[in-house]
Amino acid sequence: MEKSHEELTKHPSGLPTLFFTEMWERMSYYGMRALLVLYLVKELAFTDEKAGQVYGLYTSLVYLTPILGGFLADRYLGYKRSIFIGSLLMLCGHFSLAFPHIESFYLGLGLLILGNGFFKPNMSTIVGRLYETKPSLRDSGYTIFYMGINLGGLIGPIVCGSLGEKVNWHYGFGAAGIGMAIGICVFYIGSQKLPAHIWANERNNESKVLSEKEGVGERYSILLILILSFFSILFWMAFEQMGSSMNLFADRNTDRFLLGKEIPASFFQSINPLFILLLSPVLATAWNRLSVYKMNPDPILKFVFSLVLLGIGFLVMVWACQAKNSLGLVSVWFLFGAYFFNTLSELLLSPVGLSFVSATAPKKSAGMLMGIWFLSTAFGHYLAGYLSGFLSGFTDQADFFSFFVVTSWLGALLLFILWFRIRFWLKVR
Ligand code: GLU
Ligand code: ASP
Repeated sequence: MEKSHEELTKHPSGLPTLFFTEMWERMSYYGMRALLVLYLVKELAFTDEKAGQVYGLYTSLVYLTPILGGFLADRYLGYKRSIFIGSLLMLCGHFSLAFPHIESFYLGLGLLILGNGFFKPNMSTIVGRLYETKPSLRDSGYTIFYMGINLGGLIGPIVCGSLGEKVNWHYGFGAAGIGMAIGICVFYIGSQKLPAHIWANERNNESKVLSEKEGVGERYSILLILILSFFSILFWMAFEQMGSSMNLFADRNTDRFLLGKEIPASFFQSINPLFILLLSPVLATAWNRLSVYKMNPDPILKFVFSLVLLGIGFLVMVWACQAKNSLGLVSVWFLFGAYFFNTLSELLLSPVGLSFVSATAPKKSAGMLMGIWFLSTAFGHYLAGYLSGFLSGFTDQADFFSFFVVTSWLGALLLFILWFRIRFWLKVR
């Protein structure tokens, strides 16, 4: 029987639980992250350099542990238990930061790194499981889920940042802990109503011998995930300039006076999550509509478009560098423009990647492959931090930003050429 239009376009009822759990977890993650460097420098008297190192190490390690957490969930623990373990570890982590001792500070960071490993890949995997019977809605579902991530990313720094900076650091960290606690409650209550099949891991699946065709399909799937993860490194390496070199550009080279008041440079960090909230519904609807007409571009092509847009974003930065006035300042609209293209690019790659990995990974290693996807984020973040250190070495900053135009467009070209060769792999499954 033909499915009705409503059935085809209605998202599963479990999505809000996952949306809000992830939103609260990300609120605590980004809230704490917004305070980290400031706390290290202002309270613990770290040098800028040492604080930068701790920050860089922390943000890459949180994306390194998902490979372990994903593997353990696939093999032993199952997704539900892993998500609970991860969120409890993170809860303890945030509350350890709320104590004013250096030992509890490091313990807290360790617990957060470990906890994220158990939480993040497995949450991201089960979102896709909700869509097993509605594959055409999957990309749009992940785009909505991504909105939850960014709603948390927007609220966290505002709440924890103002409490931490204005009242007391440890209240800020405590507020992040409360966010995580709310996330746990949402998950505890909501998970009872989620369909049982989404939790199945290898242990619950009867082990079966794969036919030759399925075996080949699995190999192609894993190869595709690895190839796309490589391009994702290129993406994060450039995209993450937002928090570093572009942040410095906001601070030093942007005319931030509006109606006689100076807007703080850190304000520009909220533009990305704000644009995500505005653009996600547009893209989610677009994927949805295009799927109905069987015209939704495949994930490899979406990655190509994403890298092209990222290059355009950095081209705006190059233009900005050339448009500086005699004081070395440019209008805020340049950063808005660059952030707009970078965010559009992010939405064509990050949620699409999550959706692709969840749809393509063989069931028995779904969590671990999601961990590999996040590993590319870890590498990308690391490279981004490393490269941003070269900014001050350039006499003309335009040369620095042009580097990312080149890497993004070369990446897009390479992937487009590859697309002709590997697009049929998408069908061998
Ligand atoms: N900012 C997103 C998040 O925090 C992206 C994660 C990633 O893939 O790097 O979930
Ligand atoms: N856009 C980031 C993530 O979703 C979140 C943020 O920076 O607030 O990719």
